[in-house]
Amino acid sequence: MSQFAVIGLGRFGASVATNLVRMGHEVLAIDSNEARVREMADQVTHAVEANANDEEALKALGIRNFDVVIVSIGQDIQASIWCCLILKELGVKYIVAKAINELHGKVLQKVGADRVVFPERDMGARVAHNLVAANLLDYIELAPGFSIVEVVAKPEFYGKSLRDLGFRAKYGIIITAIKRGKKVLIAPGADDVIQEGDVLVAIGEDRQLEKMEHSLDE
Ligand code: ATP
Repeated sequence: MSQFAVIGLGRFGASVATNLVRMGHEVLAIDSNEARVREMADQVTHAVEANANDEEALKALGIRNFDVVIVSIGQDIQASIWCCLILKELGVKYIVAKAINELHGKVLQKVGADRVVFPERDMGARVAHNLVAANLLDYIELAPGFSIVEVVAKPEFYGKSLRDLGFRAKYGIIITAIKRGKKVLIAPGADDVIQEGDVLVAIGEDRQLEKMEHSLDE
């Protein structure tokens, strides 16, 4: 179990906080808006009203003792940058910060965020991928140009092995797992055979994954 603090309880911050609690972690939720704090009070370990730019207030909350601090302030870019700077100066071990655009992300990195996330951009990319490939369940960008996707196996695949399907040979794509009901087959071999209802977890270059997604749509 780790101790997390989430600063800024908009949709993203609130969702991160409640998911961390669900996963069994302790979460301190901080926001300057009293109503937001009240809404979160019974969903997290502690919810506190404080200004993210008030160094003394953050110090008094013992913010440097948390394993990870997530800064989830989007609209007020200045407040988000200033908050990261304060956290860095206070010696917080690991800072995750939400950025609303590339420039915001760059500045957050410069002032010491250990990890910058772009939830809106990433969600936009996921939705776009979902719209063009009906059988795509999920999409995660690993690095620019490289992703992991989850696709539902088409009936044409049933009864065929990964070798027969030849994704690696055709597209340079590796199937890292097969989800079969509640079971997950990690690192399937060339002889593993696709069954009805299987979900393939594939890793590869975006261009090639798109080709594969479309080959599945045909
Ligand atoms: P989302 O899209 O995740 O809903 P957002 O990117 O629109 O959020 P904002 O609405 O700007 O983000 O801020 C998220 C939360 O951060 C709000 O609840 C807001 O009250 C809080 N917040 C903004 N500035 C500060 C600050 N200086 N100190 C503490 N909390 C703040």
